[in-house]
Amino acid sequence: MKIDQVELRVVRLPFRSPFRTSFGEEHEKVAVLATVRADGLEGYGEGVMEVLPLYREESVAGALHLLRTALAPELLAVGFDHPADLIDRWACWRGNPMAKTTLELAVWDWYARREGVPLRTLLGGLRTEIPVGASLGMAALADTVANVGRHVEQGYRRVKLKIEPGWDVDLLRAVRAEFPRIELTVDANSAYTLEMLPTLQQIDEFDLHYIEQPLHWDDIADHAQLATHLRTPICLDESLTSPARVKAALDARACSVVNVKVGRVGGLEAVRRIHDLCVSRHVPMWCGGMLETGIGRAHNIHLATMPGFVYPGDTASASRTYHRDIVEQPLEAADGIMPVPAGAGIGVTLDRPFLDSVTESIEIIVPA
Ligand SMILES: [Mg+2]
Repeated sequence: MKIDQVELRVVRLPFRSPFRTSFGEEHEKVAVLATVRADGLEGYGEGVMEVLPLYREESVAGALHLLRTALAPELLAVGFDHPADLIDRWACWRGNPMAKTTLELAVWDWYARREGVPLRTLLGGLRTEIPVGASLGMAALADTVANVGRHVEQGYRRVKLKIEPGWDVDLLRAVRAEFPRIELTVDANSAYTLEMLPTLQQIDEFDLHYIEQPLHWDDIADHAQLATHLRTPICLDESLTSPARVKAALDARACSVVNVKVGRVGGLEAVRRIHDLCVSRHVPMWCGGMLETGIGRAHNIHLATMPGFVYPGDTASASRTYHRDIVEQPLEAADGIMPVPAGAGIGVTLDRPFLDSVTESIEIIVPA
């Protein structure tokens, strides 16, 4: 199959309210959107690179460079038989999973639309709805406790709190005092070191579902050591950048829960490989989030229908993050359940006037 055209678009979408984590405070989403066009159909993908490399090392500028000079020209020149083939073809360019995923997702969406099936069907996802949790940014203690209460009332299936040194034990004590039985997790986004073991061990008393990425953002070995000293299961996020890294982490017993973000691991075929590995080892998985626009969110909802995604993910209602989304379908959870958008592909259409109003740049790439 041949693709006629690749569009790369950068959009800038303001958050409803600032999102604070151990990285700092974020006020808006800058996203790279890829559109592939052929046979009168479009397919959409979204990259989760940030302007500056605060989460992993990729950046918007670096990803755009790789997309326009290597990935899109290769796709346009060679075409494809199945979207699952791209991950191995693009392995000649080292790393850069987020850049590769941006375009791979667009090809998957286009392919599913052409087949006339929902994307989830191509991934083996049978469910038409998924349970979701909410990830709460840092705020004052009383505000955080009230915010947990609001999300519990809205029916979210688990609540995740962002923590960092000095903002952990007291926070958890206050939340657990009010909500002793909710499914509660924490995400440290790499803010701790092994020297802080006594603090991390105090977290054991709060009966958390898991602690996410406590140590260095690229580490496996220290997490494996930490796991021998904690009762709380460790979930890795930042460190898991490919199917091979997930296997290495599981072999080392560095984690017993896996957070999957399609951009971080290099695309949907990589997710399928990780999924099958985790299922074969009985390791629970869940789908993380990067405050995506409706395109990335719809992709996340579809992939989270795969049977190995047994824990509630971060794919909460779009309206928690944005006043207005770039897709026409409201991606909203009710009572902690997110319906999968119906229809072919990822099941969303673009709100073009609004999309254009938040677009910073567009470039069109055609075959050489
Ligand atoms: Mg995380």
